[in-house]
Amino acid sequence: MADAKQDKLEKLWKLQRAYISQLPERLSVIHKSWSAVCKYSGEVEALRDLSRQVHNLAGSAGTFGFAQLSEQSRKLEQLLTRLSNINDLGKEELDAITHALEGIDFLVEKGPDSEQQLLPDHEAVAIEMAARERLLYVVEDDALVAKDIAAQLKHFGYEVVVFSNATQAIGGIKEYVPLAMIIDLQLPEESLEGADLAEKFRSFSDRDIPLLFISARDDWDARLAAVRSGGDAYFTKPVDFGTLLDRLDLLTCLREIESYRVLVVEDMEILAEHYVWTLREAGMQAEFITNPSELLEKVAEFKPELILMDIYMPGCSGLEAAQVLRHKAELLSIPIVYLSTESDPQQQLTAMEQGADDFLQKPISDYHLVNLVRIRIERFRKLRMYMHRDGLTGLFNHTTIKLHLESEIKRTLRQQTSLVLAMLDIDNFKAVNDNYGHPAGDNAIIGMARLLLQRFRKSDIVGRYGGDEFVVILPDTTIQSARDILEDVRKHFSEIVHTHQGEKFSCTSSIGIACTPPHMDTSSLIHTADDALLQAKRKGRNRVVIIDHL
Ligand code: GH3
Ligand code: MG
Repeated sequence: MADAKQDKLEKLWKLQRAYISQLPERLSVIHKSWSAVCKYSGEVEALRDLSRQVHNLAGSAGTFGFAQLSEQSRKLEQLLTRLSNINDLGKEELDAITHALEGIDFLVEKGPDSEQQLLPDHEAVAIEMAARERLLYVVEDDALVAKDIAAQLKHFGYEVVVFSNATQAIGGIKEYVPLAMIIDLQLPEESLEGADLAEKFRSFSDRDIPLLFISARDDWDARLAAVRSGGDAYFTKPVDFGTLLDRLDLLTCLREIESYRVLVVEDMEILAEHYVWTLREAGMQAEFITNPSELLEKVAEFKPELILMDIYMPGCSGLEAAQVLRHKAELLSIPIVYLSTESDPQQQLTAMEQGADDFLQKPISDYHLVNLVRIRIERFRKLRMYMHRDGLTGLFNHTTIKLHLESEIKRTLRQQTSLVLAMLDIDNFKAVNDNYGHPAGDNAIIGMARLLLQRFRKSDIVGRYGGDEFVVILPDTTIQSARDILEDVRKHFSEIVHTHQGEKFSCTSSIGIACTPPHMDTSSLIHTADDALLQAKRKGRNRVVIIDHL
């Protein structure tokens, strides 16, 4: 940990040193513009150049530990703005500018205010976002029940270790703290009971281990005992695995947050690098461009979920760049946050009317940057989810999965790789609805969705095509490896026990696979995967069929 912190400081200092080495050049440009202003006694264009350069200094200096310099530059910028509509600058005005510039010279000479200001204050966010392990402890004296629980949870990618009593489990916690524990509330012959048990388990870890109790009893007293023992959830036997998995996900936040994607558009490279680095440190994916003319290409390639846009850039302002984006219908919803030294609220509002969602005033603390970006992207994701996801399973819906397929095929052709499309359908699903009821059928659909999410890579795209039919797009995958993964999915799905109102049942699935090449367009790929699925059904269901020719 200490090393990691040292490492971060080293990187920050390196950026700061680079910034400091650029300062004399920046200052000399400012002085040149100032000479031009004096020479032409306040010619509008020269004054505007000077104002822009001072504006940039105000925006960047604070980020690299020069808070006083930033403040001084901002004051000068405000002065220049006030003077910008006076045609002939008098001695008093020229003196005021000279005085302010001397202050700037002095503060550059003086160096950064303190190294301390460079310390990132968002470490907690980064830790929060870090990946977590998937180890579960099951404490259960009935070996058959324990085996059943372990087998079901393993289908969903959990590592499960079974202990037959609390003392053994404590030994286990001392070795390694699990993600969560599933405990039979009526373990016999335990000296540790109730609150003692939970407290004891938790005393070996510096974080609260979620405790999920299972019990044969469904009465008030047993449930109250579980609450008093510090339990987070209570399940009666036979355990409904769907509900148990939902609670586990909720308690352990295992629905892994795909890291946020942020694009920084900022002409000052070193400042852009600082923002990108800060966001990456907080676990996000961040990239930058310094030239707005690369914006459309970069957005198409990187697919950001938020754009941080500098307002004042040479060639094209941030406001214009935002409007270029908004002219494309598919980019209407992407959040844009302006970055600027502009402190006038009216100007900020005017800027926001032109295509942006928020305004961040430079210099920006790392903490504010990370948190504002996180909050904005979370909101964007929620909105997008309602538009693109299926309500029952949370997977991509029919329309969205087809759009994804189209764009993935284009990418595959461009990069000359291979892509696999799999269609999955639950076998005899109508019978599940007929025999156990529609809600039980829903449970099986959710079970399949959960399994697919667990089994595939982040880069694979999983959708519900409709009813009991699912689609998986596997980019950069060969047909052989896809066959192995889907064979594995088929096998695991058939072993999952679905429970509804005490009744247990299992289902099988049929899977059809097609690939590109040879199929070069969306409809022929879907058509072929569908054909393969039909063959799997005809051949007796519960199998994988591949069609890898035209
Ligand atoms: P096959 O093995 O040939 O696929 O037989 P099947 O019985 O599964 O046939 P099919 O796939 O055509 O059946 C789909 C059924 O799924 C029909 C429909 O009533 C049911 N269904 C569609 N959407 C839902 C849903 O959201 N929940 C539930 N419970 N059932 C659904
Ligand atoms: Mg079916």
